[in-house]
Amino acid sequence: MQALVFEDFGRVGLADVPKPAVEGDGDALVKISTTAICGSDLHVVHGRIPGMTPGSVLGHEFMGSVEAVGRGVTRFTEGDRVVGSFTIPCGECWFCRKGFFSRCPDQRVFGYGSFFGDVNGAQAEYVRVPNADLVLHAVDPALSDERALFAGDIFTTGLDCAVEARIAPGDTVTVIGCGPVGLMAIQAAQAFQPSHIFAVDTVSQRLEMAQTFGAEPVDASAVHAPSYIQDATDGRGTDAVLECVGLIPALLDATDMVRAGGRISVIGVHSDPELPLPLNMAFVRAIDLKFCGTANVIGRWDEALRMIADGAAHPEEIISHRMKLGDGVRGYELFSSREALKVVLTP
Ligand SMILES: [Zn+2]
Ligand SMILES: [Zn+2]
Repeated sequence: MQALVFEDFGRVGLADVPKPAVEGDGDALVKISTTAICGSDLHVVHGRIPGMTPGSVLGHEFMGSVEAVGRGVTRFTEGDRVVGSFTIPCGECWFCRKGFFSRCPDQRVFGYGSFFGDVNGAQAEYVRVPNADLVLHAVDPALSDERALFAGDIFTTGLDCAVEARIAPGDTVTVIGCGPVGLMAIQAAQAFQPSHIFAVDTVSQRLEMAQTFGAEPVDASAVHAPSYIQDATDGRGTDAVLECVGLIPALLDATDMVRAGGRISVIGVHSDPELPLPLNMAFVRAIDLKFCGTANVIGRWDEALRMIADGAAHPEEIISHRMKLGDGVRGYELFSSREALKVVLTP
C-alpha cells in the first residue's frame, strides 16, 4: 500500500509498504478515508522526537472504516465508520481507570517512533489500531470526514487547553499562537462564552482566520503584544491565557498577559529543559500556571464531537489544502513552510 514514511531528519518519502493486519486481540484494521498532517508530525520529521526508524509510517490524525477486528474487540465491527485518537493509552493502569488517559505511562502514539511504542502511523491506505475499543470513536453519518477528523487530535487538544483554563462566562481570554491548535483553542474557548478573545500571532493568514472565529487579532510583529493586551484591559491582563506555541518567550509573555490571580493554560509542546521564570513576580501575582501535557483526547472527545455536531465549532474551516496521499510529500513542504495552514490527505 501507499504510505508517507520517515526517511531521515527533514525528509519525508512516499513509499510502497506492506499492508498492516490485525495482530493482537484488541486490534482493528482501519481503511483510511481521510488523514491529515499535524504540527507534531513536523517535530518527528525534524528530529525533535528521537527514535524514528527510517521507513516507518507517519501520521496520527485519521478517519476511516473498520475492515477487520481482533477477537477481543467488542465495540466495533467491519464497516463501522470511525475517527482515531492520536494516542494509544493502555486502558488498564491507575490513570486510565480514572479517565486520565493522557497521563497513562504506557501510552503510545501513532507514527512517533520507538520511544512511543513503535506503532506505524496513519498517513497510509490502512492503519493497524491497537486497543481499538478505546482508541476509536464511532462517527455519526451526518458528520463529514473533514468535520469529525480533528476530534481525534487538534480540536480536542484545543478544547483540553480551554477547559484547563477554566474560562467563565464574561472572562477575557488571550490565545498565544494561532497555528492549528491555537485556532482550535479559540473555537473551543468561545463555547465558554468569554466577553473577548485576543489572538496573538505574527502570520497574517492565521490572524485573519482567528478573526473569523470571533477573536481580536493582535499582530505581534507590529505591536508589543503584552503591552497591547495590558492597555486593552486597564493594565490588568486577561483572566485566562491559552499558550499554544511551546516556546519560552511565549510562556514568559503569557505571564505578562494574564491578570493577577488569572490562569495560564499551556498546550504548546515545550522541549526546553528549564524555564527562567521570574518567581517572585509569579508568586506575588498569584499566577495559576497549568501545563496540559498531551491532551486528554479520549477523555474529552465525546464533548468535542457533540460541539462539532451541534455547530458550536467548525474545525474543518482551518483546512487550507486538500491533496491526494500520493502528493503528501508536497503537503509536508507546504505545511513546513507555513504556506499551508492545514493539509488533509485522501488515499
Ligand atoms: Zn497531532
Ligand atoms: Zn494506562
